[in-house]
Amino acid sequence: PPIPKTCPGCGAPFQHVDPTHIGYLPLKSSTPPPSIKYRPTEETETLTTLKPQLRTPKPRICQRCHNLRHHNKGLIRSYPDAEKLLSGVKVVQKGYVLLVVDVVDFPASLIKGLGNLVGNDKPVILVGNKVDLLPDVNRDSFKSALKREAKKSLNITDVLLTSAKTGEGLLDLVERIAPVQSEGTDLFLIGCTNVGKSALVNALAKVTGTDTPGPTTSHMPGTTIGMVQIPLNLTNMALSSTPGRIFDTPGLYTPHQITHHLTTQELKLVLPTTRITPHQKNLRPGQTLFVGGLYRFDARDSPLSITFYGSKLLPLHRCRTVKADILYAKHCGGEHIMFPPLGRAKEFLPLKLATKVKLRVGEKVELGLGGVGWVSFEGHGRVDVFSPEGGYIVPRDVLY
Ligand code: GDP
Repeated sequence: PPIPKTCPGCGAPFQHVDPTHIGYLPLKSSTPPPSIKYRPTEETETLTTLKPQLRTPKPRICQRCHNLRHHNKGLIRSYPDAEKLLSGVKVVQKGYVLLVVDVVDFPASLIKGLGNLVGNDKPVILVGNKVDLLPDVNRDSFKSALKREAKKSLNITDVLLTSAKTGEGLLDLVERIAPVQSEGTDLFLIGCTNVGKSALVNALAKVTGTDTPGPTTSHMPGTTIGMVQIPLNLTNMALSSTPGRIFDTPGLYTPHQITHHLTTQELKLVLPTTRITPHQKNLRPGQTLFVGGLYRFDARDSPLSITFYGSKLLPLHRCRTVKADILYAKHCGGEHIMFPPLGRAKEFLPLKLATKVKLRVGEKVELGLGGVGWVSFEGHGRVDVFSPEGGYIVPRDVLY
């Protein structure tokens, strides 16, 4: 079969020249690979890098996607400007946007200026993915809260909750978008990196019985690089003569997600993989709570209840505020109480004041921890919140 021009895994145009750039596909060799003798010299490295070029790659995806799928390695971290790539969506007059967000990472995973990027007149269906990770929650009220929050910046028509992992909500999604495809309207899947957009496409292909090579899924943000048309047939009925096309678009970066700055190993600790169990701690005034080596909360003047919602692999550590700086300098990046980061403490030191939260008596306040989850405070008085560079904190109304 003819080789497609772009990688079905990430959408990058194939090229056979530079293994350090996106879309690299080793050329098929017509002669059998020469036998390579192991020589423990500096030539070894050259021979090892040459060897894959002589093999026939299977399946025909680029080397980067292959590495992500099979070796959990994302060697290339330079990405084209995803916002520019989205301008392709803008020129299409009619079309629906399926905006995928991660319900655990909300509203950090919401693309606020999306209307300007794709055209304000396009209807946006908001898909809250990874709903399997939410702690026990009334789905309807969560959906309404999500819609209220998203409507502050976007023209949302519907909100659906899905899980690419368990299949929850997929049939509702198909039911909502199949008529759009049948009437010949294009659909654009948009979302920032790691929201599970590629996994969702694979899952949709499964429930609709469509045979598609499927985009690559991985922990490394930025897996999807170019716009990929997905051969999804969402209807059981015969499609109209010109059915709407479905496009997957490049994962976008929002500045609020700390996950872009974490290594694959660190992401494994930060991204929850099972249902979140709320982790509650009480703080007295003058006490501090660390979430891994990433966030710090100081109770300034009153007792406080803090609940962290995120990966259970992130350690929570409580200490006296007067000792917090010294402890952080000592343990950040270590193996016990303040990781991730794993090593490289210098890049995180010192955490900077991100915001001061003022709680009125009996009030509950939630803050999104960009890419990580969220935190809720109950009590009264002031809480000082610290994070790397004072960023990666997203205020929001109470969703949960
Ligand atoms: P993309 O960058 O948006 O295309 O995200 P991916 O599809 O590569 O998924 C990112 C990570 O989230 C992967 O580790 C997936 O296994 C995981 N993931 C995707 N969808 C779900 C979901 O519905 N539930 C859970 N628990 N994990 C998911």
